[in-house]
Amino acid sequence: MQIHSDYHMHSKYSGDSKNELEAIVQRALELGLKEIAITDHGPKHDGYGIKKADYWLIRKEIDLLKEKYPQIHILLGIEANILGTDGEIDLDEEMREICDWVNAGYHFGSNLRYDLKIHLYNFLSRYSKSFYKKAKELNTKAMVNAMMRNPINMITHPGSKGPIDIAEVASVASQTETMLEINNAHGHLTVAEIEIAKQYGVKFVMCSDAHRIEKIGLVPKSIERALAAGLTPDDVYNALQ
Ligand SMILES: [Zn+2]
Ligand SMILES: [Zn+2]
Repeated sequence: MQIHSDYHMHSKYSGDSKNELEAIVQRALELGLKEIAITDHGPKHDGYGIKKADYWLIRKEIDLLKEKYPQIHILLGIEANILGTDGEIDLDEEMREICDWVNAGYHFGSNLRYDLKIHLYNFLSRYSKSFYKKAKELNTKAMVNAMMRNPINMITHPGSKGPIDIAEVASVASQTETMLEINNAHGHLTVAEIEIAKQYGVKFVMCSDAHRIEKIGLVPKSIERALAAGLTPDDVYNALQ
């Protein structure tokens, strides 16, 4: 299996990457990618989030790059944070208007003030089974509500920053036509999770989550897990047929 497009990568506008937008586009072209989405962290992530005002700068920069490199589709995306169990994400209406592709994911410690409980249980989940169970319940609720409340193209690394009930998440993902990521940089979805999600007719996406230029478009670990779970290119949105 191979991919033709990558929908999860970060640029210098995220606190944890130094990638220039033009360098990203040039690397994607070298690899022969058809489409990319630049998906920096949503503004409410305390450590790595973009400055909201920068979103319009990124839009402008991407529009210029689209003119300069018409041979590739460049989308302005976001990796919004799922902020709490109510399903709120940090992509407001103004930002949504200029956004082409929405990823959303749970990140430990993003905006502690919004829903302290979910972060607390995720932190405590490694210490006891009952905390783990509670964390799983809260994370699942947050992810399900996020998909019900917001149009989201793809949930990033489901289960990698806190446990989830994959059957429940997959069932809602299928209803809301939200795709689930097989993230190359993080271990989720795992083979077992993919096998369960597939039963609900979920569409998958294999993405790099690149924070460095040389990682863009490369998803060997995603491919390995997808194949181990018995997926075919038909199951994967960005797989070459
Ligand atoms: Zn993430
Ligand atoms: Zn990411």
